[in-house]
Amino acid sequence: MMRGCVFCGIVAGEVAARIIHEDEQCLAFRDINPQAPVHVLVIPREHIASLNEGTPENEQLLGRLLTAAAKVAKAEGIDGTGYRTVINTNAGAGQTVFHIHVHLLGGRIMRWPPG
Ligand code: 5GP
Ligand code: ZN
Repeated sequence: MMRGCVFCGIVAGEVAARIIHEDEQCLAFRDINPQAPVHVLVIPREHIASLNEGTPENEQLLGRLLTAAAKVAKAEGIDGTGYRTVINTNAGAGQTVFHIHVHLLGGRIMRWPPG
């Protein structure tokens, strides 16, 4: 738990969130400022600031974020139509919360390349 980290606050139950999936290692909740009809964030319970801080010991956990995202996509009914999973790393890529998270976006046509 990292003091002052809003996503650690959600993991701790100190910050309210619309949680839609929970397991022993990760948590998924709706983004507060959705950019698509379905916009969910999948995070590890453990504080990892960004992909830059990922270690070989985190490989299982990082993989779990993707399998959890796929599970949520299926539950949200967007697995067939399609969805996008995005990890922004550092400010130049748009990272604003420094607790690693996978964006799961769907429910509309996703353009390529992203901006
Ligand atoms: P980033 O810009 O770091 O890739 O993504 C951070 C995301 O977290 C943004 O899409 C933003 O809307 C979302 N976010 C920031 N603070 C909160 C919060 O307190 N609750 C929820 N549910 N989402 C948040
Ligand atoms: Zn954190």
